[in-house]
Amino acid sequence: MSTHYNTLLEKVHELNDLQKAIALLHWDREAIMPKAGMAERVQQMTTLTRLAHRMGTSDKFGDLIERAAEEVADDDDESTEKRLVAEVKWQYEQARRLSPELVKRRAEVTGKANGAWQEARAKADFALFEPYLEQTIDIARESAEQYGYDQQPYDALLNLFERGMTTDTVRKTFAAVSDATVPLLQAIVSDGKQIDDSVLHQAFAVESQKAVARTIATAVGYDFERGYLGTVVHPFATSFSRNDCRITSRWYPDFLNPGLFGTLHESGHAIYEQGTDAAFSRTPLARGTSSGIHESQSRLFENLIGRSYGFWQANYSALQAAFPAQLGSVTCDQFYLAINKVQPSFIRVEADELTYNLHIILRFELEIALLNGDLQAHDVPTAWNDKMQQLLGITPPSDAQGCLQDMHWSAAMFGYFPTYALGNLYAVQLYDAALAQLPALKSELEYGEIGGLFSWLHENVHRHGKKYTPDELVTRATGQSLTHEPFVAYVTKKFSQIYGL
Ligand code: ZN
Repeated sequence: MSTHYNTLLEKVHELNDLQKAIALLHWDREAIMPKAGMAERVQQMTTLTRLAHRMGTSDKFGDLIERAAEEVADDDDESTEKRLVAEVKWQYEQARRLSPELVKRRAEVTGKANGAWQEARAKADFALFEPYLEQTIDIARESAEQYGYDQQPYDALLNLFERGMTTDTVRKTFAAVSDATVPLLQAIVSDGKQIDDSVLHQAFAVESQKAVARTIATAVGYDFERGYLGTVVHPFATSFSRNDCRITSRWYPDFLNPGLFGTLHESGHAIYEQGTDAAFSRTPLARGTSSGIHESQSRLFENLIGRSYGFWQANYSALQAAFPAQLGSVTCDQFYLAINKVQPSFIRVEADELTYNLHIILRFELEIALLNGDLQAHDVPTAWNDKMQQLLGITPPSDAQGCLQDMHWSAAMFGYFPTYALGNLYAVQLYDAALAQLPALKSELEYGEIGGLFSWLHENVHRHGKKYTPDELVTRATGQSLTHEPFVAYVTKKFSQIYGL
């Protein structure tokens, strides 16, 4: 391989190393660091972030990218070198588009906005957050203008998290999802069948929860030789290389779901990055291709596997062994129904498989209205509650359980929410494609045997890392672009059976 490309690769490795050092400081801050270390830690992270930004946006780096791009211009479109240069170039151009003034203001405003949001949420007082929300909306709007877009400002923000996805496509897809799931939810609610999930709300010793979560994460294929399970307040997965992909979880002493299914969720994220091609090491290709595809893997492991009947046929005895007093006399069938209870609820992160997307659709619609100026920050609580009533048939008792529940808007992070729901749709689309391509898979999954599915995901998703765009990846794997139909068919069948509709 030629000179400029190799020189660029060296710089890309250095930049990657800096970014991973920042990620490690972040992981440590959340999982281990004593609270007293916060002020210096923020300074350490700021210094490294500034260094990385300087390195990644310099004129010299830009020249090097251009020269390397010329060298690989005639390579096959599938060549990793060509794809890597294109990705580095894209990131470089994006980072250069924002004015230094906006970058600085964003850091200052979001720092204050986060504190105001935390206080507002704790006191359930939206007025404390409102002036900061006005500012983060302005920042999002200005960012969209500086990034640029073809159709509408929201496209520019969406594109940061889901490359190539458009607001129009999301709007049409979400309309189809709500058209199908709102009536299904209404049928479930009005049917009046109550699922008793009290078995999940018992005293579960935290140490036993951790042990069994490790067992279940191992059962779905998370590699602890290249991983680590830590405890945090807000769980996430992070990786420093494909050989060090860490997960975090939280444990409720009186509720089994957050620890167990949260661990499965983060395992899905980490399995994705553990599976990336070793040749991508220390480059931007050694990660998931988009937030939506990343979320498809976490949701696939959490829900399509982790809340399936077959999986618990194979693994329920391990859970019972960990909690003989709590679950010894609870059958696998009872447990399966309990973990699949559908219920309109206020909090997104606690929502079930059917209602989750409705929480996202609400946020998506409000974000667009805020960005376009059709909705003012002041009117967010009313708009939120109206949409909750319309989609889920309930009204939050306070803004803490309504429009103040998520941190995203305090971080000026508009355009991210849709990827959660896109992840749910991609998950079923990929799962169905695997079923269609592997004749034995259906019966394997009925016995909780997931090896075949794991291999298919590795082959069609994980190993490619960020080499392909989300649309390229899903089209290669399933034969078509994003579609809501597999998801709608899946939830309709699953919850009609569970609720006897
Ligand atoms: Zn996730």
